[in-house]
Amino acid sequence: MHHKDLKIKLPRLMDKIQKLGQIGALPGGGVCRLALTDEDKEARDLLQQWMKQLDLEVKIDELGNMFGIRSGKSSGPLVMVGSHLDTVGTGGLYDGSLGVLAGLEIVETLNEAGITTARPFAVANFTNEEGVRFTPDMMGSHAYSHTAELENMLNAKAVDGSNVSIRTELERIGYNGQLPCGDLELAAFLELHIEQGPVLEAEEIHIGAVEMVQGIYWTEYIFKGVSNHAGTTPMPLRKDAGYAAASTAQFVREQVLKTGGNQVGTVGLIELSPNLINVVAQEARVIVDLRNTDEGALIQTQTALDAYVQRISKQENLSYQKQELVRFPPVQFDKSIVSKIEERARALNYSVKRMPSGAGHDAQMMARLCPTAMIFVPSVGGISHNIKEFTKEKDLERGCNVLLQTAMDLLNLG
Ligand SMILES: [Zn+2]
Repeated sequence: MHHKDLKIKLPRLMDKIQKLGQIGALPGGGVCRLALTDEDKEARDLLQQWMKQLDLEVKIDELGNMFGIRSGKSSGPLVMVGSHLDTVGTGGLYDGSLGVLAGLEIVETLNEAGITTARPFAVANFTNEEGVRFTPDMMGSHAYSHTAELENMLNAKAVDGSNVSIRTELERIGYNGQLPCGDLELAAFLELHIEQGPVLEAEEIHIGAVEMVQGIYWTEYIFKGVSNHAGTTPMPLRKDAGYAAASTAQFVREQVLKTGGNQVGTVGLIELSPNLINVVAQEARVIVDLRNTDEGALIQTQTALDAYVQRISKQENLSYQKQELVRFPPVQFDKSIVSKIEERARALNYSVKRMPSGAGHDAQMMARLCPTAMIFVPSVGGISHNIKEFTKEKDLERGCNVLLQTAMDLLNLG
């Protein structure tokens, strides 16, 4: 059989998605598998068992990243496919899991066809992609591609205030592995993921060939004024931190519309203190989320925002502090792999479009190390991080077949 005729088996993939979905299952569907909890351990154990059943060599690194390796004719750099098994508190069955289980399905397809590829192949599960229980998100792939960060990651404390860290939780669940982080040499990295947005479904397109991940800037501003009586303090004498926060939110909307293109901006968090009806707020904390595929435009929007915050603070007689919480520049994926994804999708008679990713993914970290790209499949209603997250079986099958064909191309190179 020519490798172009190889297809994955949907019932096998669905069986694994369902079985994994029982771990941390929530009433009404969906799952809660926060990183390094007992549920995450159970999911990891099941993955490890499946890897061994498929004759993969299981390796676990210092940060708990898991790899199942299938040898090739050469012992050189490997082609890796992967994603994450951890979820948010109200996660679905597909976010992350799909990219890992699709990797296993590729192995099963190759095993069944008796194919030895030129390059070795690996299926990866990265630790703490969601960043809910520990920050930052995309932790496992971040450390893999930036090993200087490993110690910081291991020392990261749980955000719930309990006195556990990544290190102590890895030890507790037995996933503090021996493999040095970042040790496996990569020829290419691929990630199949649900879109988590509405575009593919709305345009009735089967496959997204993801060209890039948009850049993300999170900036916290804390305005400091004076709390005072809402009835007796004349307007010109106020130092109203709440007003500055609200006005900043309005500025973000206006500036983002002015910038245009792919610029988006969100103020989803404002905290006022003392937060009382009849008291001028003495302190206001605002976090601004700015995203763009164009780094120059993103920087310009951020610069305009910083200037505005300075202006409004002066006008309102406030002091303020600024902290850069996140600075992820836009990441371009490998052009030749993106073209391959398109070609392979068309050869399978699937409709395909190039698109950016609006969300962050492990693949954007791995792109620092080797040629990398992502494949998206439609999310019904564009919904994710929600127990209602759903992708049709036929779309899962299409995505997995494109992943298989693209991986086959890369595996037979070299
Ligand atoms: Zn994900």
